[in-house]
Amino acid sequence: MFLNDEFNKIKQTILESIPKDASVSDIEFEGPEIAIYSRNPKVLLNNGDIIKGLAKRLRKRLVIRSDPALRMPPQQAEAEIKKIVPEEADISSINFDDNVGEVIIEAKKPGLVIGRNGTTLKEITRKIFWRPSVIRTPPIQSRIVLQLRHALQKDSDKRRGILKTIGQRIHRSVLMQNGWLRFTALGGFREVGRTCIFVQTAESNVLIDCGINVGTSSQGNSFPRLDMPEFDLDELDAVIITHAHLDHCGFVPFLYKYGYRGPVYCTKATRNLMTLLQLDYLDVAEREGKLSPYKQKDVKNVVLNTIPLDYGEVTDISPDVRLTLHNAGHILGSSISHLHIGDGLYNVAYTGDFKFSKSRLLEAATSHFPRLETLILESTYGNVDDNLPSRRESERRLINAINRTIQQKGKVLIPVLAVGRAQEIIVLLEEAIRHKIMEEVPIFIEGMISEATAIHTTHPEYLAHDLRDKIFHYGLNPFLADCFTQVDSSNARPDIVEGEPCVILATSGMLTGGPSVDYFRYLAHDPKNTVIFVSYQIEGTLGRRIQKGQKEIPMTGGRNSKPQIVKVDLNIETVEGFSGHSDRRQLINYTKQVTPRPEKVITCHGEKSKCIGLAKSLKKILRTETYSPTNLETLRLV
Ligand code: ZN
Ligand code: ZN
Repeated sequence: MFLNDEFNKIKQTILESIPKDASVSDIEFEGPEIAIYSRNPKVLLNNGDIIKGLAKRLRKRLVIRSDPALRMPPQQAEAEIKKIVPEEADISSINFDDNVGEVIIEAKKPGLVIGRNGTTLKEITRKIFWRPSVIRTPPIQSRIVLQLRHALQKDSDKRRGILKTIGQRIHRSVLMQNGWLRFTALGGFREVGRTCIFVQTAESNVLIDCGINVGTSSQGNSFPRLDMPEFDLDELDAVIITHAHLDHCGFVPFLYKYGYRGPVYCTKATRNLMTLLQLDYLDVAEREGKLSPYKQKDVKNVVLNTIPLDYGEVTDISPDVRLTLHNAGHILGSSISHLHIGDGLYNVAYTGDFKFSKSRLLEAATSHFPRLETLILESTYGNVDDNLPSRRESERRLINAINRTIQQKGKVLIPVLAVGRAQEIIVLLEEAIRHKIMEEVPIFIEGMISEATAIHTTHPEYLAHDLRDKIFHYGLNPFLADCFTQVDSSNARPDIVEGEPCVILATSGMLTGGPSVDYFRYLAHDPKNTVIFVSYQIEGTLGRRIQKGQKEIPMTGGRNSKPQIVKVDLNIETVEGFSGHSDRRQLINYTKQVTPRPEKVITCHGEKSKCIGLAKSLKKILRTETYSPTNLETLRLV
């Protein structure tokens, strides 16, 4: 039903521009990309400039695929690949995707499969007529990544259909030419949690982030306000997810449960981490006997409909919206979303959660965009006094707190978010032990941390350059160091808490569930022990109450799961400099340094006083319009 003039026009241009002897047999949408099937792809491969020029002229992403009839049978093709690629590349698997004609080659040294300037890859394509895609064999294999790959391969037929439908919708003809643009806050404004932004033009409806608030049990405040009258799931063109934390992506499967069949755009690392966290959310809900808003099959539908994008890849997501993701420096694969609306009409960048300084794990957030009129800015640390200590100072404080506790024969509990802070702390502790700055004690890791770590090693391209170099050029992988012990069963906890001094890294980061809560219950009574908070504690969470100094906590657990009052006598430390968020100084620096300078700044993702306070300060400092809308408020940008 979407097949229309626009598609025919594109098709016609492609056919007219490509040499006849390339013998095009089909032209098909693959989501935002256009696949050109050729019976003689050598002509196009040998003349790369033809396709480059055409892609530029059409402003579309084009991909060349050989006609299925040409492809060498997989067994023979596999032998051919092994003949072409040098043995030192250490290929660990070769998988064929019949539907798109792709062969996925996993190797320990991917550079050797690619060859200088891609020569080896080109040779493979010319020989076997499958399109090779190369991935690095991760040092730690992730269960989720394998499951996802398997699911996508098994349903590749379905996936192809999905991509075709998405492509047709993206490339539909523009009906309305009068440009206007509205932005509506659906969640996460003047609060932290359930982030959701609705962007509407005359043509398109786009949702950015769709999270849940894990800090509240009230249904009314847990989920985004999708009940707003203008929001219609059937009219939704795209969902963009900035990163994998549940307050940004926890509600996405719900959209599929209620019939959304459009795309989700995010980086590949976000897709993998997001799936891990959504599945874990369901597990936790089930264990705690809570009703969850969606089921596992809805999570699978998210995966099948997700279109992964790299940083900097400009992509049409509707007839009048172009999306580019940029590094946000917050967690692995996190992104700032830049939307280019209409043909030069307007540009919006939404920071998502972002860190405007380098961490051990990631590079600092991007601050340069081709064009920018409105900046939507997170405000987690938006108050005047929300300046965090430097990373160096925070590291020193953390190591000191650990050493102090160990010397008095106590144990240290560090509740961590599985994704991000956990890996940052792992990299730090490994170095501290190696440099003998920290007492050498066992470090136990429990919860999803190891799986999240495996996903980090699957996507080294998102890690900070120096960490990547350490892992791949110097063979020093902190994630594999001997000082860490993975705890696989809750039965091991009593032995750990009764054993020798140690450090325990456990999820969840705000003590809202998971092993960290159990460890806390065990350790709370003993003044020799210490709990160290290294990430932001949302209002309403147990972590926040402990941080504020609540001395008696009603909890259930232990051998007979009886309700009990837990006395809190252990040391409580908060070391905030590890936060993946920009502090007040970094937020202000960002708005000063971002280029081009925005005309409007909208604050979100912060407690009420922080969102309002930051907007007020920025108005004075930048002399621009600033807004701090509440949920359900709409702003007309054009
Ligand atoms: Zn986050
Ligand atoms: Zn967040």
